[in-house]
Amino acid sequence: MLPSCTDIRFLTSSFRWTDVVSPFTPTVDELLPPLTTQQELALLARVLWREGWNDHLAGHITINRGDGTLWCNPWLLQWNELRPEHIIAVDLDGNVVEGDWPAPLGLPLHLALHRARPDVQVTVHSHPQFATVWAARRELPAVLDQSGALGGGELVLVDEYSGTVDSGDAAHDAVEALGDADLALLAGHGALVIGSSVRAAHQRAVALEHRSRLAWRVAAASTGVGDGAGDGVASALPEPIQRRMRQSDGTRFIGFWEAAVRGELIADPTLLGPPR
Ligand SMILES: [Zn+2]
Repeated sequence: MLPSCTDIRFLTSSFRWTDVVSPFTPTVDELLPPLTTQQELALLARVLWREGWNDHLAGHITINRGDGTLWCNPWLLQWNELRPEHIIAVDLDGNVVEGDWPAPLGLPLHLALHRARPDVQVTVHSHPQFATVWAARRELPAVLDQSGALGGGELVLVDEYSGTVDSGDAAHDAVEALGDADLALLAGHGALVIGSSVRAAHQRAVALEHRSRLAWRVAAASTGVGDGAGDGVASALPEPIQRRMRQSDGTRFIGFWEAAVRGELIADPTLLGPPR
């Protein structure tokens, strides 16, 4: 049945343009609107989902609140549907201390990491499509271009770990094997990225998946027939360049995170609006 004129007046009285259009127009001096930490976490999950960090319900993002608790995505929701009001807070034993949703499975890895390295601010773990290929191969992908080295940090293979991350002991072993590294491929499992901020974690997570995807494609292409334009042999970036890029803290590429967030706000302009 079509709505009556009274119904239409009721509907239009609650209409707001901010519900259907991007709520923000960037300028050179202001690339993003102010964001709460919960908004940042939800946006980080969504933009990484588009980058291949999209293994269904798997994956956790934690942000250190500095008081012995962590912001965290909840269990039961995928990263591509996450909203700021879904974000929970957990203590370092995994107990939910704020929020309406349960803690995600596999969180002991994050808890052990934050306990062992209190300076860690943001941690991202999931099973990204191409990084997990190399994790399954128990091999670090070569750095074949600059985009794969963005964000810096040391990537290591954590091979002492076996099984899932549900066991507290396994999580402790994995953190021991990680040492002071900033990124890890978890053998037969997935990937882990650490950053000093959401911006840094985003840059590194995107770069790791790019690096893994390019190395996989180049390896696949090298088994085919070349076009004769070159020798068909890929080479890694020169080590001095890699060494310099590894020293980045992931925060220096202004605009990269901001552009990704604006893209997500265009896709879902309601994200910064009232809870749904
Ligand atoms: Zn996992």
